[in-house]
Amino acid sequence: MEEAHSEEWAWQTIRYLSDCERHKKMATFIPSAAVYLPPPTFRPLPLAQWFETFHSNDILSHLDEMKGVITSTYGRILKMDSTKKITKKLAGGIGDSAAWMSNIGNEFGRVLNSVLTSGEGAGLEELCQGVVTLYKNAGQAEPEAIYVDRDCCSQSGVSSVAKLFHPWQSAVRLDSFHFMRRFNCGLTTEHNPLYGIFCAKPSSCIFAWDQEDVQRLKEAKRAEWKSSHSGHTPTEEQLMATISPGELKRHCRRRTRGVEEIRGMISGLLESVWDLTDTTGLRLVSHDSMRHVWEVQQKHLECLQDPAGVALYTKVGTLQKGGKELDILRCGRGSSSLESFHRHQCAFIPGWRCNAVHTQMYMLEGVSRWNMGRAKEAVDVEGASTLRSFDVRLMSHLSNLSQRVLGSTLVPEFTPPGKPTSERIAVEYLLGRDQQR
Ligand SMILES: [Zn+2]
Repeated sequence: MEEAHSEEWAWQTIRYLSDCERHKKMATFIPSAAVYLPPPTFRPLPLAQWFETFHSNDILSHLDEMKGVITSTYGRILKMDSTKKITKKLAGGIGDSAAWMSNIGNEFGRVLNSVLTSGEGAGLEELCQGVVTLYKNAGQAEPEAIYVDRDCCSQSGVSSVAKLFHPWQSAVRLDSFHFMRRFNCGLTTEHNPLYGIFCAKPSSCIFAWDQEDVQRLKEAKRAEWKSSHSGHTPTEEQLMATISPGELKRHCRRRTRGVEEIRGMISGLLESVWDLTDTTGLRLVSHDSMRHVWEVQQKHLECLQDPAGVALYTKVGTLQKGGKELDILRCGRGSSSLESFHRHQCAFIPGWRCNAVHTQMYMLEGVSRWNMGRAKEAVDVEGASTLRSFDVRLMSHLSNLSQRVLGSTLVPEFTPPGKPTSERIAVEYLLGRDQQR
């Protein structure tokens, strides 16, 4: 900022001095007694506090639009997930009472609400019932599936997550990443060189690639290889080596294997690593712990199954490869899109420690910006501008005015958010619950 501020001063001064110089040259023909005053002196930047106050005032003047962006988000597939990461940054009273940040997102990675709570899975009724009411008031159909990181099922019948979202009948499913992570408790140490190899395996025990999609990708890659290798056909091995994991994910669907197939494959995997040791003789698997983990986790194989009749993939576009057209797919399964939100969420709060008021402001600003960013990615709008602005009022104004004057909008990708509702968001949620008690 100092650099930009200094350069701005230099440019303004150059403009002024150039005018003076031009005037001075004219004065050789027409005598003039002008005196050229020195330009305004350079003023250094104010302190960081000034910027913080300015930023806060700016957020405060946009609160309603920011809330509107968050509370007018819906989805067909919801994800609920909690994280502890951000709570380390909270200072003062809220630092002591807040332990978890719970988020609900949709299949596009947009966030419906993000609240602070005092415990994992504690006090989430208001959050979930708020979302249920939001859907009802907006006339939205209830979501087809809800992916969670815990409480997917219950021995007594109805899972506690299903109760939280009463009266919805949505299928509750366990996120496969969280399922796989539970196996870590059965390993002796994460520092074992075999650890990484083990962690990469369970995913292929749970999911199988759609063979038709894989065939289509292989044909495209084969044609691509031929045109760059003067017509030679690649061997199967050469062909597979050219396909990156990213390409598989972008163009091919996966489905979950059946319960018994997963059980058999994970059992096989565990057997194959059961007695493995590293070079120092240290076992990878801690037998007793792993036996227990596997016994408990087998109850959740049913919860991993793709919900019947729910389209988990959406086609977001197409691309040409080797002269063939391939679909670009987006997967709505699981809660990995929320995991990525968690990582960014910490960065919404600048610095290391933050009080309640500032946390609230930064969270609202961060989540609404996040949603607007995702909305832009999710829709493939023809003639979309490359503008990068998160100011709802400014964009609305520009969109409406261009519509009136030019007959078409200059920002077709912009959809005005709905009116904000009374939803409690972020710190408000924690403090509101304290007041009720
Ligand atoms: Zn379960």
